[in-house]
Amino acid sequence: MAAILIVEDEAEMASGLKDTFEFDGHDISIANNGQTGLEMALANAYNLIILDVMLPEKSGFDVCKELRKNGSKTPIIMLTASKQEIDKVRGLELGADDYITKPFSVRELLARVKAVLRRYPENSGSDLKSVKIGQLEIDFEHYKAKSETANVDLSYKEYEILKFLYQHKNEVVSRDDLLNKVWGYEIYPTSRTVDNFIAKIRKKIEKDPANPEHILTIYGIGYKLLE
Ligand code: CA
Repeated sequence: MAAILIVEDEAEMASGLKDTFEFDGHDISIANNGQTGLEMALANAYNLIILDVMLPEKSGFDVCKELRKNGSKTPIIMLTASKQEIDKVRGLELGADDYITKPFSVRELLARVKAVLRRYPENSGSDLKSVKIGQLEIDFEHYKAKSETANVDLSYKEYEILKFLYQHKNEVVSRDDLLNKVWGYEIYPTSRTVDNFIAKIRKKIEKDPANPEHILTIYGIGYKLLE
C-alpha cells in the first residue's frame, strides 16, 4: 500500500483515478489545483505524486520544480495532454520520474506507478539498518562499515548504491535505475560513473575484486547483488 497524492483539476478524472488506486489498495489524497497540491505535498509524506500539467493557480511544471527545489524526493509521475507538454517534461530539468499521456489506459498507469514505486522501496516502509555483504558489515543507519579486522570507509554514494542493490538483492538492477536513485537529478553522470563506483565498492567487499561473488555484472544491463 502506498500513500498517493493526485493533483488533478478535472473532477471526473480525479475521482476515477482515486477509485482505481483505492481498488488497488492505495491510500489516496486529491488536490484540485497546483497551489493546494504543492502545499499538501510539502506538508505530508506521500510515496508518490501523480501530477497533471494543466492546473489552475500553478502549473504541474511549477509544482514539480518547486517540490524539487524544496528538497522533496517523492517520486512524481506527470500527466501530459499534448506533444508540447511531453517535450517539456522530457526537456526541462523538472525532476519528474515519469510521465504518461492523456488519454491513457488505467492498466498502463498502474504499471507505471508500480514501476516507480519499485524504484523507491524505502518509500514502501522497508527499514534497512545493518546488513552483511561479502566481507563487510554495513550499518546504513549510522553510515559505518567494518570488515572482520578493521573499520572500512565508504562514501555516502557508496552507501546509497549498496543500499539500493541490497533492497533489490537477487534481482538485476540496471545502471539507469542506479543513476536515477543515487545520483538523482543533480548532475549528469554517465553509466561509466556507476561502473567506477562499483569497482571501488568491490575492492571493499569482495575477497577477489576481479572475480566478484557479491556484486555481479549483468552484461549490457547492470548489476545483481548476492549476499
Ligand atoms: Ca488539467
